[in-house]
Amino acid sequence: MNYDTDNIFAKILRGDIPAFKVYEDDYSLAFMDIMPQAEGHTLVIPKFEAETLLDIPAEHLIHTMTTVQKVISALKSTLGVEGVIMMQLNGQAAGQTVPHLHFHLIPTHLSQLQRHGAEQGDMAKIKALSEKIRAVL
Ligand code: AMP
Repeated sequence: MNYDTDNIFAKILRGDIPAFKVYEDDYSLAFMDIMPQAEGHTLVIPKFEAETLLDIPAEHLIHTMTTVQKVISALKSTLGVEGVIMMQLNGQAAGQTVPHLHFHLIPTHLSQLQRHGAEQGDMAKIKALSEKIRAVL
């Protein structure tokens, strides 16, 4: 695997570019997707340099999935939704655009899903929501 250390999520992890962070621990980071497919669309990434699900050791994956569970729970309580979609793309052939492993957590029904990476959301609204989500994490 040739991990691209200049990918946008690597830059977020290094603090080179900003993100609306909602949770962070030694193994993982959760932040808002700025082109949301539904209100509250959040991304969880491992700190380990993995491009796809095939590139991460089990220990890092377990901690990252624990963060996924926490964030799903926080989305449910913050947004008052019953359902949250988890989506994860492996490789450009599957539509992956950022080559750092990430889990999309999207609090909506499959039939309501907006187009992937299509349009930048309202940054003020995303920021406000990130503060609410962060407060319960
Ligand atoms: P994927 O196509 O599965 O690789 O998803 C990449 C996701 O990253 C898309 O949903 C984009 O909207 C999102 N994204 C791209 N750049 C940023 C950024 N700077 N901050 C937050 N989300 C981003």
